Amino acid sequence: MPAPHPVLSVVVPMFNEADVLPMLVARLRPVLDGLDEAYELLAVDDGSKDQTPVLLQAARRTWPQLRVLRLRANAGHQAAISAGLAAARGDWVVTLDADLQDPPEVIPGMLEAARAEQVDVVYGVRTDRSSDSAFKRRSAHAFYATMRMMGATGAPDNAGDYRLMSRATVDAVNALPEDHRVLRLVVPALGFPSTTVGYVRAERAAGSSKYPLATMVRLSVDSVTGFSSAPLRLATWFGLGGFVLAVALLVYALVAKLTGATVAGWTSTVVIVAAFGALQLLCLGVLGEYVGRIYATLQRRPTYYVAHDSLHDGSDRAGSPAQRT
Ligand code: UDP
Ligand code: MG
Repeated sequence: MPAPHPVLSVVVPMFNEADVLPMLVARLRPVLDGLDEAYELLAVDDGSKDQTPVLLQAARRTWPQLRVLRLRANAGHQAAISAGLAAARGDWVVTLDADLQDPPEVIPGMLEAARAEQVDVVYGVRTDRSSDSAFKRRSAHAFYATMRMMGATGAPDNAGDYRLMSRATVDAVNALPEDHRVLRLVVPALGFPSTTVGYVRAERAAGSSKYPLATMVRLSVDSVTGFSSAPLRLATWFGLGGFVLAVALLVYALVAKLTGATVAGWTSTVVIVAAFGALQLLCLGVLGEYVGRIYATLQRRPTYYVAHDSLHDGSDRAGSPAQRT
């Protein structure tokens, strides 16, 4: 019997979340069952290497609304969410982290707010981040400040990837040609009417963070290069500043030569060589980031590969080709 068309899809990306999965099921299921709406819980297994897929299959035996989208390799948080958004069928789609930092109890409130205020997007906004480390808080603040400077306006402060989106919004996200999407910036940029719902960000319920520093840096670079070409102009400003400095130095050098006070130029030479070497490398690196992005776009390589979608179990199981999005 085909399951009813879901009103709500809840997309949960998971990478090695076996430790927290039982707790997630225990907290999420009563909330979703209590909604009195047809729903699907779309677990995106982002190439987990632990017991996550086993536990998901076990949970599916008693939870028919649980659908498992297995990615063939670890694609990363944002790509995993993108995979979930492409596969979700609901009229409304919520994206939620697996680690219970975003309390699932907020979902009914989000749905209610969207319907009552007739908006397309409801952002979960962290009203209290005291459970996040000081470093994470400060870096997040700097991230949003920088992104606003770069022209990515509209992203509410302290909103992560806990949000509800309408079908129209999800379709618009899916239709975007860019591959390395940073959803928390892309969704506000789409300009759909939105509202916010506050929640208190809890501590990770179990397991460890899957966001090492290098991944956070990657996300920031993707955010900036995805939204602004301002860094490319940095080189121009550095170049102008360097030119002014060079003229001043030329005058100084000539005066020094004429007054016979030469030789004592070692320090300034070293400083100048080092400073300009560093600046040139920096500008090259900035260029490289954009060239890399162009390269990735030209390759048209998918950011994720779907290995299996439990939705098709029993019907056309043999043919589940890799999907491209
Ligand atoms: N995640 C994922 N793929 C990855 C890394 C993380 O699907 O490569 C998921 C992870 O399972 C979790 C969410 O993304 O559900 C957020 O990760 P995490 O809680 O580790 O990040 P943090 O809260 O520490 O920023
Ligand atoms: Mg987390």
